[in-house]
Amino acid sequence: KEEKENESPKEWKLEPEHEFRFEVDFGTTVKLKLIEGTAEIFGTEIGIGPEYEFSGRKVAVFTWHGKSSVEYLANETPMVSYLNMHLALEQCREAARERGGPGPRVMIVGPEDVGKTSLTKILLSYALRQGRQPIFVDLDTNEASLHYQPSFRNLYVNKIDDDDDTPTFNQGTVTIPGALTATPINQILDVEEGFGSSATTLPSIGSSTTPIVYYYGYAEPGENVKLYKILTARLANTVNLRLDQDEDARTSGLIIDTSGLIDNNVGYEILQHCIQVFSANIIIVLGHERLYSDMARLYKDQSDIKVLKLSKSGGVVNRDKMFRRQSQMRKIQEYFYGTSKVGLQPFNASIDFHSLSIYRVGFGSLAPSSALPIGIDRKVSETQLVRVEPDETLRHSILALITTDSPEEPALLEANVSGFLYVSEIDNVKHKMTILSPCPGRLPKPYALIGGFKWMEA
Ligand code: ADP
Repeated sequence: KEEKENESPKEWKLEPEHEFRFEVDFGTTVKLKLIEGTAEIFGTEIGIGPEYEFSGRKVAVFTWHGKSSVEYLANETPMVSYLNMHLALEQCREAARERGGPGPRVMIVGPEDVGKTSLTKILLSYALRQGRQPIFVDLDTNEASLHYQPSFRNLYVNKIDDDDDTPTFNQGTVTIPGALTATPINQILDVEEGFGSSATTLPSIGSSTTPIVYYYGYAEPGENVKLYKILTARLANTVNLRLDQDEDARTSGLIIDTSGLIDNNVGYEILQHCIQVFSANIIIVLGHERLYSDMARLYKDQSDIKVLKLSKSGGVVNRDKMFRRQSQMRKIQEYFYGTSKVGLQPFNASIDFHSLSIYRVGFGSLAPSSALPIGIDRKVSETQLVRVEPDETLRHSILALITTDSPEEPALLEANVSGFLYVSEIDNVKHKMTILSPCPGRLPKPYALIGGFKWMEA
């Protein structure tokens, strides 16, 4: 049953293996209620009774059972093939458990808007429903598929050193567009927020509880290929450490969502790099014949890597630039203010310019080659750290606070993110900036990275 604002509710009956698709613009809300039967949204079951609210989303409600009575909504869906894929992965996981070895490391590739993220959600949800605890790796910097857990009101992140009893930068998950993340999935995914608020607590690595988040800072992997490769390699390394310690996660394996960059110039280079660093052994190519045959050819001599194809769902919707941009902005908004269901209270603070050292990675986005400092060529300059002196241009920027003690490469470049700040004002006279922060108190470490994202408080 679908209810739009100011409209009387409509009721739909779904046949088995059919889905009901709808799109909700930003600024409008659609409420959805399951009256009888069973249904799921991108793999996660919805309950009978509660009202689910959607805004700025494109959604499919699918049922395996349904009622054969009505003819409309007669859609073809590839859900059976997705379920079969899940069952095949389950066999790998079962075998992994018996051997005590690693589970399937699945990477989902394809162009933009073929349903990669939706398939990722479906495979994760199904795995979770079978008691597995796969790790979700998100390499799509355009989107931030997952954010925090509402039970963490203190939404920063890392605990500072134990001997330091200054305010609490507690754990919570972070993600914002431009971030590369890995999260163990052990709670049901939230249907309203996509991955949203029910994504799980953070992984612990070694003795410290550290979320696996690195900040790349741009929407497109092609913007700074060298940096993207360094950070994905770093993420893979950290994920492997995590898997070494966690048998459930190790045997459940990885589901890796990727960006839609598939041109055979940097796109292929980046894909092959990611496959290699994550030791992906099942590559699912979604909705793209040529990419499938190219991938199959590239890996034909590697018997340990399987390249498979699945078709795109007819329901997948193309998102235009505007929609993407709005989704990105909403994610940033939600990072600070929470969602309509779980509101959060961010904090404003005025800090001295010198209390935070801000770095940008690469000269590339700043200047044409001719304007680079003498002796620095573009390749080298891609990962050069550049200290950013606060000025007007910083206003409305997003900063990633990082956890490092050493302001040097590569430590700074590859440092873990502890949280994000928003620069709302710059006072050049007093040398102060006003920042919006998810929690009060002192900054955990005085280092931040800046990328290309700007945001305006609504
Ligand atoms: P990709 O990750 O390949 O870019 P997504 O999985 O994000 O693609 O899908 C693109 C858009 O289409 C998203 O807004 C998603 O919610 C929507 N979508 C995906 N599958 C369906 C479907 N079966 N019915 C309706 N909308 C869908």
